[in-house]
Amino acid sequence: MRDTVANISTALGQGAIAIIRVSGKEAIEKIDKIFTGNLIKAIPNTIQYGFIKDGNKKIDEVMISVFKAPKSFTGEDMLEINCHGGSYITGLIFKLVLNQGIRPAEKGEFTKRAFLNGRIDILKAEAINDIINADSAESLKLANNQLFGKTSKMIKEFYERIMMLYTKINVSIDYPEYDDDYLVTNEIALPEINRLIEETKAIIHNANKGILIKNGLKVLILGKPNVGKSSLLNAIIAEDKAIVTNIPGTTRDIVEGTFYLGGLKVNLFDSAGVHQTNDPVERIGIEKTKEMIANSDLILTVFDNSKVLTKEDKEILKLTENKKRIIILNKKDLNSNPKLKGKDVILLSALEDNNLLELENKMKDIFDLQMNDSLCYLSNVFHISRLEKVLEALDQAKTLIEQNNNLELVAFSLNSALDMIKEITGENYDLDFLDKIFANFCLGK
Ligand code: GDP
Repeated sequence: MRDTVANISTALGQGAIAIIRVSGKEAIEKIDKIFTGNLIKAIPNTIQYGFIKDGNKKIDEVMISVFKAPKSFTGEDMLEINCHGGSYITGLIFKLVLNQGIRPAEKGEFTKRAFLNGRIDILKAEAINDIINADSAESLKLANNQLFGKTSKMIKEFYERIMMLYTKINVSIDYPEYDDDYLVTNEIALPEINRLIEETKAIIHNANKGILIKNGLKVLILGKPNVGKSSLLNAIIAEDKAIVTNIPGTTRDIVEGTFYLGGLKVNLFDSAGVHQTNDPVERIGIEKTKEMIANSDLILTVFDNSKVLTKEDKEILKLTENKKRIIILNKKDLNSNPKLKGKDVILLSALEDNNLLELENKMKDIFDLQMNDSLCYLSNVFHISRLEKVLEALDQAKTLIEQNNNLELVAFSLNSALDMIKEITGENYDLDFLDKIFANFCLGK
């Protein structure tokens, strides 16, 4: 068991209770010294009632949950002191805990210990942080599926499929005299490699969906000044966040709003508009806008349907032609004859329509992102970077087979694919990488 650490696990501030966690080999013995009850004799998985004391002075009436190794969250002896939730009293008790020669736990250190002690794999550890940070129904489902082990299982099965082929190839290399179903030739290996390549691509595709679900969609409202971008943003988020005026070019800055599409979080950005101007402030806005087009998941291009399409409008259509986009013809109350046609075109009035259902449905169609209990997606860029390496290794194995190279080289490529997957599950890790993961956690977690 490792050295003993402690930290406050609840948010600081005033609340009914606060929890101070203590974990490590001397947790029970050291806290017993500042507790009126007897923690040493306490039966594991019980809650002990008593007082935290400083010398003979009672500091606070508390309940302490007692867990003994290895049956605790961290896999170590562990206590959770439930004290009164004022920040002063919590701080006082925490100080007293540290005075027993206990070190403050670093961010995520309890979860890191759970991982190092084999209680959870890295995917589950990351899921704990994702649950804490989840800000939509769908991102919570995604994180829960990961915590409940579905994602680990999916990756493990994928790993085992590659492992099976790798093992068969090695047997074929080592015991070529076997006349057995187990022997693999290039002809037998190729279709399986192809299947694995397709599977890797599907996992990457879903991981990109996972990232969208976790972070929320970035939707950019783009159009030249005065077409009704701010009005549309307000209509969507139903609050007066952007300033609406009829002087062209006032929405210089990028305004953000958030709404929920089904259970999915959507971050909306208003843009300064792409148009020629001598105003330097607006020019900065325009550069930003171009950058934002590249960084957005979806563009709502807005046009004033009551006017003819200008050169700037056409430029906007051109700039966004390769992106996921919806073309919005606004101000239909002034002229309901659509200026553009197509399945991505919506005619509406940001001022008068109080039902933007058609727009919402189109957005939902573009992103098929409803999670259910059986779906499990990886959801971070590190996972994708490792999967891309898996894909590279499998592609390499495929080329080697197609060129009729010997199977040893194929086995070598498969082995590097396996190593990459082990980095996703945390079977292969280096300490720097672990530190990076857990630095994103909060204290006390
Ligand atoms: P932005 O510069 O693109 O953000 O445009 P605004 O949202 O500031 O709108 C510019 C002007 O158009 C304002 O006077 C709005 O009231 C008006 N406007 C916006 N949407 C509509 C609409 O659907 N119908 C009508 N008639 N006017 C609109």
